[in-house]
Amino acid sequence: MRQLIAGNWKMNGLAANLGELAALKAGLDNQEGDPDCDVLICPPATLIAQAAWAVKGAFALGGQDCSAKPSGAFTGDISAQMLKDAGAAFVILGHSERRQIHGERDADIAAKVEAAWAAGLTAIICIGESGDEREAGRAHAICLGQIGGSVPKTANAANTAIAYEPVWAIGTGKTPTLEEITAMHAHLHGCLVEKLGEAGRAIRLLYGGSVNPKNARDILNLDGVDGALVGGASLKASDFLAIIGAVKQP
Ligand code: PEP
Repeated sequence: MRQLIAGNWKMNGLAANLGELAALKAGLDNQEGDPDCDVLICPPATLIAQAAWAVKGAFALGGQDCSAKPSGAFTGDISAQMLKDAGAAFVILGHSERRQIHGERDADIAAKVEAAWAAGLTAIICIGESGDEREAGRAHAICLGQIGGSVPKTANAANTAIAYEPVWAIGTGKTPTLEEITAMHAHLHGCLVEKLGEAGRAIRLLYGGSVNPKNARDILNLDGVDGALVGGASLKASDFLAIIGAVKQP
């Protein structure tokens, strides 16, 4: 499966930081041949239109959240169609920071996924257990529940990717062991097939949580890992290019 390397800038980035995207484009242009993966950056929504102009299709752009509503009196919210109009092709939904800080529940996320699809965006649905849940031996059950609640029944490889992001690994420098990642991804691929049938088999399953240039090769070469969702290390083009350079060779 062709891997997807996705960067999540979170609430970081001003117009002055668009130079990193130009550097990423230049790095990709300078590589021999096309990268062996799909590349995506999700900057703050305020930068998507300028970024689209700057990167000229060298890689995809995405949002970090969208409203479940198509339009209307929802001050401060951004619709999926607005993201699409600005130049996004993807949107991250259900990131653990939105689940924790904004109280998003599985049903809210599923509604946002439907809205993203209606606007023609591919949804990257984030799931993952907390540290306490892993210690209690509940990691697999928690993720199964999140897939059950936040992935609509018509998900397929064209409209959806899933990011497994253990909450305790995000921004902490900690990662699960390679064996734990492999076991979780096998479990999640099984859950997707159980829920969606054959369509579930082709859905890309990204790993996210403290991926960096040093650990990327080991993680991206694991069975069942179809890419990465990268936070901190996506902010610098040189780090992100190093991660792209570590993708599984076809
Ligand atoms: C993320 O924000 O989705 C993430 C994985 O962050 P980091 O790579 O910084 O842990």
